[in-house]
Amino acid sequence: MDYISTRGAAPALDFADATLAGLASDGGLYVPRSWPRFSEAEIAAMVGLPYAELAQRIMQPFVGDCLTPERLLALTTQAYGRFSHRAVTPLVQLDAQQWLLELFHGPTLAFKDVALQLLGLLFEEFLGRSERNLTIVGATSGDTGSAAIDAVAGRSKVDIFMLHPRGRVSDVQRRQMTTVLAPNVHNIAIEGSFDDAQAMVKRMFNDAAMTDRFAIGAVNSINWARLMAQIVYYFAAALQLGAPARKVAFSVPTGNFGDVFAGYVAAQMGLPIERLIVATNVNDILHRALSTGDYSQSTVTPTTAPSMDIQVSSNFERLLFDVGGRDGLALAAQMRGFEASKAMQLTNAQREGAATLFTSARADADETLKAIRWAWVETGQVIDPHTAIGLHAAQTAGLDPRVPVVTLATAHPAKFRDAVEQATGVRPSLPTRVGDLFEREERLVQLPGDYAAVADYVALHATPRV
Ligand SMILES: *Cc1c(COP(=O)(O)O)cnc(C)c1O
Repeated sequence: MDYISTRGAAPALDFADATLAGLASDGGLYVPRSWPRFSEAEIAAMVGLPYAELAQRIMQPFVGDCLTPERLLALTTQAYGRFSHRAVTPLVQLDAQQWLLELFHGPTLAFKDVALQLLGLLFEEFLGRSERNLTIVGATSGDTGSAAIDAVAGRSKVDIFMLHPRGRVSDVQRRQMTTVLAPNVHNIAIEGSFDDAQAMVKRMFNDAAMTDRFAIGAVNSINWARLMAQIVYYFAAALQLGAPARKVAFSVPTGNFGDVFAGYVAAQMGLPIERLIVATNVNDILHRALSTGDYSQSTVTPTTAPSMDIQVSSNFERLLFDVGGRDGLALAAQMRGFEASKAMQLTNAQREGAATLFTSARADADETLKAIRWAWVETGQVIDPHTAIGLHAAQTAGLDPRVPVVTLATAHPAKFRDAVEQATGVRPSLPTRVGDLFEREERLVQLPGDYAAVADYVALHATPRV
């Protein structure tokens, strides 16, 4: 399988090089040249497989001959062996129709671990084959940072620079990043929003002064390998609920559109998905785009679900590319227009293509609290605010009652204890696997929301490419 850029001008790469490259050199995102497809019989044969084996089967067509099946299985076994639940991503039934898919049993308590535990191993594997090293530069609204740092801390050929918006991540999220004192880990708190941080990271990928000296890599969901790993749990959940004979809907708390795009890919691969519900908080650019075609950026409002406080959803570009006829040069022009004016209209093909599978819903602060309270009072489940936004969307989607609706539980409630306590009166305790987080020393630098300051800092502390 080779990978092409959504903007049509970067060279095609194999899986290993696309994994190490992150963003394409033309500013686009890598996507597989075509979607691999499983037959109904092949999907039926996956029922009951252990998670690591299922992961190997789903991912092998994307990896191609960059990893043998035996090697890929060894990596998935190692990555998912670190999860605290033997099922890796267990399903919990809430009522006759609603289910939760718990994606937070990894080391840093959010679904980001599912992809990043594997990505850390893939970096090590592919870098180990050559003399290369990697300078990872990432932006986080909270959870990617901690999951990526956990996955690469102490690895010899990788430095990681993680930008987070100062004061806009929860205390647990921040400490999970800043208390990792490995010398290859650099935490940077910048003034501004997640979108500002993400824009700086994208600019660095296109800054020749930086890319000439450093091999810059990505851990954000602009990296295809992350999305690939997330396809697996859509299959895992649907297979348990009767796929391929029965259709399942998913409600996905959405920020950068990575997680829900993985669901779209699962559908392209043959998994029968009834609907993908894009759940947003009041930062609802995606809800507006999907419901009216208007993709226009407004300012970010901080909420109790900070990992979704995003206005520019990088992976939406992958969807627009795929449903808009895969015309890279046309999309490049459309995206340049968006970058210049902070607004664009979807084409008819893009709107109609998206509407075949996606619907969307938005939850405000009150609806989020109500969903947390409903889950606690009616089902005894303590859920976090991100999951609650997904559950609200699932409950209001108006789907046929015979279709199971799976809400992706993207974070452990203890990661957002204040909001959960406010809704339920119960303060969730941190699982023992995070250890003495509040006793440990923190290390971070604070920089202004200024690209030059960040680039200088990275240039001073990173290892030049070898
Ligand atoms: C990252 C994150 C999201 C949003 O996922 P995207 O792939 O960016 O859409 C939702 N919930 C939590 C808890 C997250 O960490």
